[in-house]
Order: sequence, then structure tokens, then C-alpha cells
Amino acid sequence: MSEQGKQRWRLAPTPSGYLHIGNVYNLLLNWLWARANGGGVFLRLDDLDAGRIRSQYVEDIFRVLDFLGLDWDLGPTGPDDFAQNWSQQLRLDAYESLLCRLREKDCVFACTCSRSQLEGTGGLYPGYCERLGLDLDSPDCSWRLRITHTEDIRFQDRLLGEVALNPAEAFGSFVVKRRDGLAAYQLASLADDMQYGISHIARGMDLLPATGMQLYLSETLGLPNFHNTVFLHHDLLLEQGRKLSKSAGSQSVSLLQSHDASSLFQGFANWWGYTDFESHGGLAGLLDIARQDQRLR
Ligand SMILES: [Zn+2]
Repeated sequence: MSEQGKQRWRLAPTPSGYLHIGNVYNLLLNWLWARANGGGVFLRLDDLDAGRIRSQYVEDIFRVLDFLGLDWDLGPTGPDDFAQNWSQQLRLDAYESLLCRLREKDCVFACTCSRSQLEGTGGLYPGYCERLGLDLDSPDCSWRLRITHTEDIRFQDRLLGEVALNPAEAFGSFVVKRRDGLAAYQLASLADDMQYGISHIARGMDLLPATGMQLYLSETLGLPNFHNTVFLHHDLLLEQGRKLSKSAGSQSVSLLQSHDASSLFQGFANWWGYTDFESHGGLAGLLDIARQDQRLR
């Protein structure tokens, strides 16, 4: 029981657009996985990139969670509490101290490559700046992590089984500090997951490289706990052959204007394979089925 008390999942939407159905399914999955195991839920809003954040998107997140009936035990109670007490802008020192640690360990190098210079490299950094020894304090440079370990990053995934990612092939030298001075998503997300004791993460397969990067980073930083995280990477959310996040108009209005809760629950049940679900069962009906779901034990 005490072990169970330590388990915590997170809902981590980014308020840079209205939530789309793919976001909602991922929120539902994390919440159901947590509650089916008696685990805790932390609500985290990724607002580090302040230029992309709008207050209406923050409000939309709280409205959608309320509409679905999803609760959480830790995190902001609403938009005002979020701004005052839970914004990632309040944790810049924590991110900065991890960046300092990387610098002290000589694990980062400065990169001044422009986006166009990196076009056609398939997302893998080709190493242009690594040998130049550019000054890490020079303006307009990002910091990239040196990839010095050649062994595969390995972890167990609830759906995929054992996953092995080769650092050089799966992600290469990735950005940990952005050109504008902000910590990159990979570093901030890892720092927050460790700070708030996250033990389980369900996310889309598109974030598989991000998981590899965060595991590599946690090893470099000496944060071994992240390796105990239980991962579940689910297939890209498809509906009628399209990726949901790209479906027309999904970012322009709150999906509450065109969906009722039962259709969202039914859509989730169809996607996640809960064929026994009847839409009048609502969230409680989904949770009943989730408790029998071997993938979520
Ligand atoms: Zn470069």
C-alpha cells in the first residue's frame, strides 16, 4: 500500500492551442491508468514557451478537464492558481541548475546552426559545431548534448515490450537549451517529472525519441530515478486515416463546441479497444473496464 502511495501519473497538456481529440484521449488514458491502480494524478501545464501560450488555451484545459470529470490530487486548481503557483516560469532556477550541471560536466556544446542549415538532416544533428568549441556564453547559440555513450537506451514499455534506442541513430545531439536561453522541453519535462515524483507516463509513439532523450539526459545528469518510470507509448491516434492532431480545425475552437462528453468517452473506448463500453456508463463505466485492462495493471 505504501508503495502504491508513491505512484503518480501526470496530465501534461500544453496551452498553445485548444485541446484536440488526441489530447483528450491521452488525458483520459493517463487518468484511467492512474485511478484504476489507485494512483495519484498531477496536473502540469507546459507553459515554458511563453510566446506560444494564450490565456484562452489555459482556460480551455480546465474547462475540458471539468467537462470530462477528470480530477487531480496535485497541481493548479484553476487559471489563477496556475499563474501564481504552478507556472513553469516559476521553475526557471531548477532548469538553470540542471543546465549548469551539464556545463560543469562538459556534456554540452554551443551550436549556432540555423534551421535552414539543418534542413535535410532528418532531425539528427550532423555535428557541425561540436568540434568547433564555440563559447557557451556567446549570444544566439543553443546548447546541445554531447552523445558519448554508444550503448542502446533500453526500457520496458507496456505495449511495445522491451524498447532499445540507439542514441546516435534515434536522436543524436539534441538541444537542451534553446537559442532564446530557455531550457528545452526535454530538460524541463524531465526536471518536472522528477520534482513531482512521476512514476508512470502514457504518451504517443511520436514521443518515443523524446523518451530516449530524457532517459539519456537523466543518465547524464545522474537522475537514475527516471529509469524506474513505467512507460506506455500508444499508436498515433488515427481517425479515418488521419492523425487526429492534424484534423481540420482542431486547433481553432474548443472541442467542447462540437462534442458532448459521451461521444468523447465512446470515441476513446473505440480507439482503446473497450468494446464492452456503453456510452451511458460515462467515465465511471470506462474506469470499471480499465480496472480489468491487463495493459494498465
Ligand atoms: Zn551547430
